[in-house]
This record gives sequence, structure tokens and C-alpha cells, in this order.
Amino acid sequence: MIEKSDIKNLQDIVGKENVKSDKAHLLAYSYDATKEHYKPDVVVFPRNEEDVSKVLKYCNERLIPVVPRGAGSGFTGGALPSKGGVILAVEKYMNKILEIDMENMVARVQPGVINRNLQREVEKVGLFYPPDPASQDYSTIGGNVSENAGGMRAAKYGITKDYVMALRAVLPNGDIIKAGKKTIKDVAGYNIAGILVGSEGTLAVLTEITLKLLSKPKLTKTVMGIFPTVKDAMNAVYKSLAGGANPVAMEFLDNLSIRAVEEKFHKGLPTDAGAILISDIDGNVEEEIDYQISLLKRYFNENGCKEFKIAKDEKEAADIWFARRNASQSITIYGTKKINEDITVPRSALPKYLEEVEKISKKYGVKIPCFGHTGDGNVHTNVMVDKDNPQEVEKGYKAIEEIFKMTIEIGGTLSGEHGIGLSKAPFMKLAFSQEELNLFRAIKKAFDPNNILNPGKMGLD
Ligand SMILES: Cc1cc2nc3c(=O)[nH]c(=O)nc-3n(C[C@H](O)[C@H](O)[C@H](O)COP(=O)(O)OP(=O)(O)OC[C@H]3O[C@@H](n4cnc5c(N)ncnc54)[C@H](O)[C@@H]3O)c2cc1C
Repeated sequence: MIEKSDIKNLQDIVGKENVKSDKAHLLAYSYDATKEHYKPDVVVFPRNEEDVSKVLKYCNERLIPVVPRGAGSGFTGGALPSKGGVILAVEKYMNKILEIDMENMVARVQPGVINRNLQREVEKVGLFYPPDPASQDYSTIGGNVSENAGGMRAAKYGITKDYVMALRAVLPNGDIIKAGKKTIKDVAGYNIAGILVGSEGTLAVLTEITLKLLSKPKLTKTVMGIFPTVKDAMNAVYKSLAGGANPVAMEFLDNLSIRAVEEKFHKGLPTDAGAILISDIDGNVEEEIDYQISLLKRYFNENGCKEFKIAKDEKEAADIWFARRNASQSITIYGTKKINEDITVPRSALPKYLEEVEKISKKYGVKIPCFGHTGDGNVHTNVMVDKDNPQEVEKGYKAIEEIFKMTIEIGGTLSGEHGIGLSKAPFMKLAFSQEELNLFRAIKKAFDPNNILNPGKMGLD
């Protein structure tokens, strides 16, 4: 429990103006995108790495929980102070792009840099940072690395972990460490940067991140395939990728999602289609793009595609993407509460996964619209229920549990991009053996023997 003297001591470290315990601050930092609320005891804004180190050292000695926080856009409660303590909010001061190294194609940034700002800055000099979570306008690079965020371009360009070259971080005892190098290859020692990526703020506080950049492709085209059944569409996904197609994105909407967007926005979408697939193809020369489109067309048609559309210009491309970008908000027509999971399966298991989801939907009498990043096997699976109907909510959670079990059976994972945090912690036992969970706990203990850093998360307690 935090005492008045702790607040005073924290003020001595970071300055009085950077320690807030008034009602408004405690409320503002008590939530994330899960809409759950846990009030911290105090919010601290470190000005630099030295402040982070001193705050952690102090809290470690006093056994005060510390929760690192970027923008608070997480979907699984990672930044929520579920055990009280200090919110360590890096977005206020530690938000600078420190270097764009054109020669090595690398950016060095502080953790509070907003994803979109980094993209914008590197694109000004012809470079490219591909990971683009839909929250890119506000989520931070520190949060992206800690959740190993993915985005719309992952089918071709991979996810955050594929771009993290090196990190600086502070351990819970205040020690400052460096992990990784600005080199393409580095096999000296354990891959500590690899362990910290996706560690959800439970092992160390990231203070500097070195990211790989690519050169920006000059051309992009958008295509859409309309399929009679979701199974046809899912077959087209993995067969076209296995056949050499290399789209930036391969996104899908099922029939429930298509109908929801159409009901809300009247865009003339094919409401009788089982599914649609939307793909972007990029490259530097027309021939490359044309070849990729021909591959997609061939595999789509071989798998039952009824109509294959190629956007003629940016407006048509935006029209095609409209359905995907608005799917999440549109499916709220099916229920006032959305139990939203980001399950990921091997791509060849997509047809089976969606078939099983449909069976589970019928069994529990709940609608489960699905859409998402099928090019990565990542399906946003949304169990829609009436929040004021407790029986229906209970059925929804039972359906989700059954979906998780089935996912594991077919070789998939609980989370493709949102992490475990608080929301999925109860399901860790489904996905990992006791021995595996013990290993996770041993890693946590090696970094954080006093369990002060983001305690209660990832099912580690
Ligand atoms: C509308 C919407 C769309 C989204 N779309 C996507 C998407 O397409 N793909 C995707 O992957 N996610 C998506 N997300 C989820 C979320 O935006 C990501 O998980 C994002 O990476 C979180 O970044 P943040 O800065 O908000 O982190 P926060 O929510 O503040 O924190 C997330 C986790 O990171 C830890 N953390 C933050 N900063 C640090 C640090 N410096 N050191 C150590 N730990 C730290 C926190 O303790 C917490 O556990 C979406 C969220 C919303 C609301």
C-alpha cells in the first residue's frame, strides 16, 4: 500500500509536477480499451531513463506494484493497475524519435512515440515501418513492442517482433540493460530482446527501441474476391499464399459481418456472399503487381470466387476497404456486448476453424460474426450478446471457452495480437502445460523476483 511518504519520495525523484494522485488523473489512468477499471494509487511521468531506473529501484525496495503504460489502447487489460500501485506513464516525455539512420535503415525511438508519427517521419525520407495496428494513430511503439502488435500488413511484412533489433530497458531493481544491436545478425548470448518483445510490461520497462526499416514500395493495388461460402474463401487464402501469392494484406469478412456493414452504411455489398476477401498488393514496377494479381485471381477462381474486382483508382480502393474498416463497429447491431477474441490458427486450418465456430454459435444460440487478418490466420471472433441478459452473457463466455479449446486442438493460439493481460489469463492453462507455465514463472522470477512489475498479468500469479 502506498503511503504519503512514498508520494513525497517519488516527487523527489521525478519532480513534484510529475507525480499525480488527484481524482482526475487516477480516473484517467484507470482504464484501457477493455473498459475495465482499476484505480492506481499514483501516476508517475518519468522524464527519462534515469527517472525510470530510480522509480523502479524505489518501488522494488518498498514492494510497490508498477504498471508501465503507453497509450492505454490495449484490448486485454495489460496497462490496468489491477493490484494498485504506480502507473508509469511514458507517453508524456519519453516520446522522441532519436535517430533515423538512413545508411543502416534503422530508427531509434523512445517508447512513447506514436506508431503513426514514426511511420510518417520515416516515409518522408523514403523508408517504411510496416507494422500498422489499427490503433496506429494513438498506440505507442513501447506498447506495440510489449504486445508484439500486428496489423494490416502482416501477411507480407510480419509483425512488430520482425522489426525489433535492439532495446534498452530497466529491470525492476533499477538496473539498465541493453539487448540486441543495430546489426542484421547478432547471435551472441540469449535473445533477451526476443524475450522482452510481447512480455506485456511484466519483465522490464522499455526505454529505447531500435527498429528495422525497409524502403517504401512505390505502387499499391487493391483487389476483392466475393465467395459463395466462407469455406471457399478460406481455401483460397491458404492455397493462394502457398502457391506464391505475396499480398500485403489478405483480409476477410464473413456473411454476418458483410450484412452488418450493409445494414449500417448501404454500400451495395453482396449480402448473399458467404465471405469476401480483400487484398492489397504492393511493389515497385507494374509487372510485379500484375503478376501478383494474376496469381490471386487464379487461386481465387479455382476456389469458387464468383467475382474478382480490381480497384481502378484510390477511390475504388477506399470503397473496397470501407467494409473491412467498418466491420468492427457495424457488428454491434447483433448485441450490446462484444466478447472479442483475436484467435490465430495455422492458415490451412482456417476452413475447419470457421466451420467449428459456426457449430458453436448454433449450439449456444449466439451470433459470432468473424472478420480479420486471414492472411495471417488471425480471425477476430466476436461473440455478440445482450449485456443486460445475464443468461446470454454466460452462454457467450461458455461459447468462447469452447472456441479456445477447439483452437488449441487444431494447433492455434489464444491470441494473435492482443496479448493475454488480465482478460485471457484464465485460459492460459488451456494453452500451456504445467511445465511450460512453470518455465514462464521462472523467467518472470529471474527478471522480477519481488513481482512488482505488472503483477497479476498473463496468468503468471
Ligand atoms: C480500436 C483499436 C484497434 C486496435 N487494433 C489493433 C491491431 O490492429 N493490432 C494489434 O496488435 N493491436 C491492436 N489494438 C490493441 C492495442 O492498440 C495494441 O496492443 C497496442 O500495441 C497497445 O499500445 P499502447 O501504447 O496503447 O499500450 P498500452 O495499452 O498502454 O500497454 C499495453 C501493454 O504494454 C505494456 N507497456 C506499455 N509501454 C511499455 C514500456 N515502455 N515498457 C514495458 N511495457 C510497456 C503495458 O504494461 C501493457 O501491458 C487495437 C486497439 C484498439 C483500441
